[in-house]
Amino acid sequence: MHGDPVCRICRREGEKLFLKGEKCYTKCTLDRRPFPPGMHGQARRRKVSDYGIQLRAKQRARKIYGVQETQFRNYFDAAATKTGPTGLELLRRLELRLDNVAYRAGFAASRAEGRQLASHRHLTVNGRPANVPSMELRVGDVVGVRNKSKDILPISRSQEMLAYRPMPVWLEAQANADAVRISALPNREEMETSIEEHLIVEYYSR
Ligand code: SF4
Repeated sequence: MHGDPVCRICRREGEKLFLKGEKCYTKCTLDRRPFPPGMHGQARRRKVSDYGIQLRAKQRARKIYGVQETQFRNYFDAAATKTGPTGLELLRRLELRLDNVAYRAGFAASRAEGRQLASHRHLTVNGRPANVPSMELRVGDVVGVRNKSKDILPISRSQEMLAYRPMPVWLEAQANADAVRISALPNREEMETSIEEHLIVEYYSR
């Protein structure tokens, strides 16, 4: 009756955040219910302050990458110490998490599934088992699927998802297609285009 709790996050934001994998492309709830959750969702939209806009931009990014507030703040603080633009550095930290790379590589249909694959020990980093979804990867690292996990359904199904969202150019498929190498730092246009990182910087700079 109350709808899918994950899809409610998208409905609240009023846009598709692609949190559920294939369903997002084929049977998206938002295509059928394009208004916020709750009985009077349509009537509840009201004018929001600058603070509200910044807060929503930050929350939207958090939800897209599935990161808790404390960790998100830590990413921001670390990004702020870098010489590059803080917003860009923040996005790179989010993109280079193991769960996100598994998603980008097509091993997982969603970032949530990427987290599960990592914590259930289906992934490797540089040939060694890796089970920390937030593991921060670097250029040159190779993320793969463990031999014994290659035939599990989520992974073979997820590979089909690459038809909907191709692998970004900063990932290089390895010869046997069950591993990818991070060949470069992602550029801004190769990451989530729906995130307005300048608003996130404003939010934390108040
Ligand atoms: Fe649900 Fe995906 Fe559509 Fe969001 S984009 S409402 S998670 S189906």
